Amino acid sequence: MTMLSPVLRQSLDKRYQFLCEGCGGWHDIPIHGVTDPKHFNKTKKNPKPFAWHFSGTLDKPTIRPSLLTSYYDDEKKKEVTCCHLFVTNGEIQFLGDCGHHLAGKTVPMQVWPADQIKRANDSDAWVFEARSGAPKC
Ligand SMILES: [Zn+2]
Repeated sequence: MTMLSPVLRQSLDKRYQFLCEGCGGWHDIPIHGVTDPKHFNKTKKNPKPFAWHFSGTLDKPTIRPSLLTSYYDDEKKKEVTCCHLFVTNGEIQFLGDCGHHLAGKTVPMQVWPADQIKRANDSDAWVFEARSGAPKC
């Protein structure tokens, strides 16, 4: 785990990660030209590897296209959106279909807590710790 800037870190497989105040966790994104293509997301709908474009500005990133996280709700029998956002110049624009309290709002990217940066640099331990307390998606 490597801190790239106060708002961005990189996982061992080179994905970029940032904290999401809406979800109470982080988002994990494969990046064109950075992440090894074998680690790119693959879905049934889109079996080809795909990745996002990054502006190269580590302190105030812009990432395109939007990032959407969702899950299939067995009771509702449909896909439910947890978080849908744009990252632009160091700000997160949460779109109206987010399932959390920041839907429709734009906020600055969160700075990684200083006391957790060393742990993040040392291992993947914090990843699993944070994920266990995060919402469903
Ligand atoms: Zn989120």
